[in-house]
Amino acid sequence: MNVKNCPGCGKMYVQNSLGMCEACKIGEEEGFSAIKEYIEENEESTLGEISKATGVSVKKILGYVREGRLMATSGMAGDITCKSCGEPVTIGNFCEACMLKLNKGIKDAYSDDNSPKVETKRTGIKMQIKDKF
Ligand SMILES: [Zn+2]
Ligand SMILES: [Zn+2]
Repeated sequence: MNVKNCPGCGKMYVQNSLGMCEACKIGEEEGFSAIKEYIEENEESTLGEISKATGVSVKKILGYVREGRLMATSGMAGDITCKSCGEPVTIGNFCEACMLKLNKGIKDAYSDDNSPKVETKRTGIKMQIKDKF
């Protein structure tokens, strides 16, 4: 058995596909649904307000938006920006214009058999988070 330290609470746990211990996974899911509920009722809430109300860190909330699991509220405008051009985005990593460009680039690359494959890995891109606290 592979035993690791949980990145969430630091306790030892048996390695699993969750990447964290059971207790932290449950806490994470609860936090996520709390955010969703809060956003539904407070559409203009800011990152700080959501974090305070749900106890989930701003960094985590931003992570959910980047992953496409959450839609940014109007109060988050400017906190989440396109990784390519810096324009505000409401979900994911790139604005619509850059998404179109990226998709086009990928298509072009695939239509030409001799060209190298487009690197679509998302690793290596540093998160641009303005830490407000
Ligand atoms: Zn844990
Ligand atoms: Zn952009």
